[in-house]
Amino acid sequence: MSSKQEELKELNEYWQENCQCELRKTATQAVFGDGNAESEIVFIGEAPGKNEDIKGVPFVGAAGKFLEEMLNNINKKREDIYITNIIKYRPPSNRDPEPKEKEDCNEWLINEIKIISPKMIVFLGRHSMLRFFPSEKISNLHGKLLIKTTKEFGRQAFMPLYHPAAALYNGGMRETLIKDFKKIPIALKKLK
Ligand code: URA
Repeated sequence: MSSKQEELKELNEYWQENCQCELRKTATQAVFGDGNAESEIVFIGEAPGKNEDIKGVPFVGAAGKFLEEMLNNINKKREDIYITNIIKYRPPSNRDPEPKEKEDCNEWLINEIKIISPKMIVFLGRHSMLRFFPSEKISNLHGKLLIKTTKEFGRQAFMPLYHPAAALYNGGMRETLIKDFKKIPIALKKLK
């Protein structure tokens, strides 16, 4: 196990015991981030859905399949990247997470990302982007490489994308997301 994997394991063990998020009462289990701890990209989604809650792994349903197809388009596999959610527990009936729930899972997420220390953070959807850029609009920023100084990570590259679940059944958004996704390797090259 690499040292980053070990640190993530310890982090998840700690927060699984100590996270105060109320959603843990109704969820089957915590859904930890998954993938390559050495990845130069971290994808951040919103919250686990039904399939993720059952399996304990993020993005294993229809949105996850779509994400894998898009990764394939840029010659990457799921095992190459790291993927997590702002919320680690499934909200009942997949409702939107509430501000307090986001807040309660925040330190877990921030420390998770700090361990991986990726070259670029890709937001999957509005909720994920708003966690860090609360006054921005995803319709303005999708597919754009942003280099910002944040209190959490210092100088850091980000790219907001539409959420694959939202884009899955919306033809126009789907096309946009597929196009935007192909900007990821171009952005990574720029950051080298
Ligand atoms: N949607 C998300 O935002 N996260 C998941 O893990 C699955 C679907």
